[in-house]
Amino acid sequence: MRVLLANDDGILAPGLLAMYRVLSADPDMQVDVVAPETVQSAAAHAITIRHPLLCRDVHIDGAFHGTGVEGSPADCVKLAVNALLPERPELVISGINDGANVGVHVLYSGTVAAAAEGAILRCPSIAVSLKTSDEPDFDRAARLAKPVIDQILRQDARPGRLYNVNLPAPGPGRPKGVRVVRQSTQSLIERFERRHDPAGRPYYWLSGDFGESTDEGDTDLRAIREGYIAVTPLHVDLTHAARLEQMQAWTWPELPRG
Ligand code: MN
Repeated sequence: MRVLLANDDGILAPGLLAMYRVLSADPDMQVDVVAPETVQSAAAHAITIRHPLLCRDVHIDGAFHGTGVEGSPADCVKLAVNALLPERPELVISGINDGANVGVHVLYSGTVAAAAEGAILRCPSIAVSLKTSDEPDFDRAARLAKPVIDQILRQDARPGRLYNVNLPAPGPGRPKGVRVVRQSTQSLIERFERRHDPAGRPYYWLSGDFGESTDEGDTDLRAIREGYIAVTPLHVDLTHAARLEQMQAWTWPELPRG
């Protein structure tokens, strides 16, 4: 199986290396790495259309060589599938991201966007993220993620399938298991810290977190907080299916003529 590995933390990120090592240790997987040259966290699904996508061969001693792209995570997957790789990948893995991508972070995440781009290009795609902690252990996270990836591939790896996998912060007895959960819709509690530049002009720096969980029912946010691996099936179609039917029953006004 040909696997494309991308991320949003950049081609030098330890999470990418850990994921590469575990995937390429599987004799059934042939892994190509195409990832951004620079950190692209919170790039969401941006693509580059007004600048060239400069590429560079990147050799990580004793581990892999891949292509670093001066572009976004979605650029990397588009470019890899359409131009760089000799064959279409049969699987796109994005990560392991340093930091969870649960709840509304899914919308901001470059990690999820790289996987979503894979899904748009009709590859089964999986985003993998690890909740931030003081000492993130990406090697262990990759070993934990691999059987989850394998199970997804066994169960449903049809073209365009998109999955979001989040690993909890490490701790004794963690993770406790795998939970298949919906995406949280909880708002972030955000703060803009006001500072001043050397010329005295104000600037702002965003920080924020989710605070206490207010989700009803089981969500990705709740599952990783409780020490479980959260797996969420996503789709690129943002249509609200139930509201679509309601709205199709609306009577629309006559449009002005001429
Ligand atoms: Mn990131």
